[in-house]
Amino acid sequence: MNAILPGVWDLAPPDAFVHCYLWQWDEGLTLIDTCLPGHHQAILEAIRQLGHSPQDVKRIVITHGDIDHMGSARALQRITGAPVACHAVEKAFLENPRQRKPSRTLAGLALRPFYALAHLLPRFRVEPVIPDQLLVDGEKLPEGLTVIHTPGHTPGHISLLDPERRILFTGDALHNRGGKLQPPPPIFTLDMDNAIRSIWKLAHKYGKQIDAALFGHGPPILHDAGERIRALADELYQADRH
Ligand SMILES: [Zn+2]
Repeated sequence: MNAILPGVWDLAPPDAFVHCYLWQWDEGLTLIDTCLPGHHQAILEAIRQLGHSPQDVKRIVITHGDIDHMGSARALQRITGAPVACHAVEKAFLENPRQRKPSRTLAGLALRPFYALAHLLPRFRVEPVIPDQLLVDGEKLPEGLTVIHTPGHTPGHISLLDPERRILFTGDALHNRGGKLQPPPPIFTLDMDNAIRSIWKLAHKYGKQIDAALFGHGPPILHDAGERIRALADELYQADRH
């Protein structure tokens, strides 16, 4: 477990290649993503270490229906009793995770047989989850988070912004890997054009409200993240014109 900012922790266990965040607010805790299947025990243990009980979790928001983000959602829904929320368009992937395929790029197509067999490995055997709450773009949650629909990586992908605390949870709308802010990898991104439009949206509609950005993959950017996202959006726009 890592304290990132006041009231924000990364609860991902060391063997996860993804982050999941705990967000503290007036009435309890909200989980943002749930790591891989089987990670629920480590997540609950981290919550206990912080002095809370599983029942303090008031909502589980899933940024998108990929196994590394929704993997433990069903177990955590069952144990905490908290509602699971996702974008309305993403519901199908949570209810039937095997619908999720890699992209139609050559590399993505080559990977499809492995996706089809992945559920045979316990680490990738994801339990479907029926969301309790369907979110839409612009919706404001009582914990201070605004839902931003950022489609592309998946059709119902969302990011979450607290405009007061100036913190953005990007999910996989952006990656911060190898010290470089970048779009999500094309091999796993269903619609790359939309993914880039979503980066534009984050940059130009919300960029001025963002100081810190916390990613599904890669270390957080704690200062001036809005400017970094705007610079990336402009770079992608220039690249598109040539
Ligand atoms: Zn991911």
